[in-house]
Amino acid sequence: MILITGGAGYIGSHIALKLLEESDRKIVIFDNLENGHMSTIKTLQSVRDFDFVKGDLKNQDDLENLFRNFDIDSVIHFAACICVEESVQNPRKYYSNNLVGTINLLNKMLDHDVKKIVFSSTAAVYGEPKYVPIDENHPKQPINAYGKTKFMAEEILDDYDRAYNLKSIRLRYFNVAGSDSKNRIGESHDPETHLIPNILASAADSENVFNLFGTDYATRDGTCIRDYVNVEDLASAHISALQYLSEKNQSDCFNIGTKNGNTVKEIFETCKKITEKEIKVKINPRRGGDPESLVANNEKAKKILNWCPKKTLEDTIKTAYAWLKK
Ligand code: UDP
Repeated sequence: MILITGGAGYIGSHIALKLLEESDRKIVIFDNLENGHMSTIKTLQSVRDFDFVKGDLKNQDDLENLFRNFDIDSVIHFAACICVEESVQNPRKYYSNNLVGTINLLNKMLDHDVKKIVFSSTAAVYGEPKYVPIDENHPKQPINAYGKTKFMAEEILDDYDRAYNLKSIRLRYFNVAGSDSKNRIGESHDPETHLIPNILASAADSENVFNLFGTDYATRDGTCIRDYVNVEDLASAHISALQYLSEKNQSDCFNIGTKNGNTVKEIFETCKKITEKEIKVKINPRRGGDPESLVANNEKAKKILNWCPKKTLEDTIKTAYAWLKK
């Protein structure tokens, strides 16, 4: 059985959906529902039945009961706080949830002899890019508490492999966007801080002004460049990672992105074209902690995981807009 922590959240639920639809593996989702949604669990259960446990990684009893009650052989670990700005203002929350939570989970895995994990990591482990596209050997100097928690968790995973033979695949996501192409689940954060949902929310409501942060970066149009990877493509990367773990039983890390960078203005124009709406925009100073350009070199994932992103930016924005309207 596969344990999915954080499976009621945006990314976790899309990976759960893929496993439910395309495999016969049993799954159990563990989520404290602070950021995840019970409605997402219900939607997933209508696809194929599975176990859901409401619980918290910071609670040892919740974890012990989980590992006692279910015959878990591998883990996909999403449960985490993900807001960069909040992590700078409230690092305690991030070190408790993301780092202590992960250590609790790993120790419980060892107690129950579970030795395989796919870990949600992030491009934020690299910090300010020294070169782009960024490959996996790029120096890791995270510039905010969020990135540091993920970096430290990766270091712990290395030590646990050396000492206890616990095998992990760390997937370093770039900017994840879009939603299920059948429009059953999607992205619902409160507050929403991500670019594509924010532009689309302004397209859907003419009173809602889109705030653009920073037009003085040294990029082709002055706005930040990011690599937007579709959430369904991301889900495929997790399936490949699980397969790799079970076939090769080796730890490794992979960038998950498209190798294409788009500026904020380019994303804005594409959203305008797809929604056919006029969108009100306000130009603001730079947002704290935003690196100028983050683009993935994804050759390693292509070669070793046999993974390749298939969706276009237009596909991604269309599904995100369909979900927002729903
Ligand atoms: N951004 C923006 N307005 C928004 C949200 C984001 O201008 O309402 C910009 C942000 O400053 C960054 C890029 O869009 O340059 C991507 O931000 P997002 O929060 O989506 O992802 P991040 O790269 O921070 O993980």
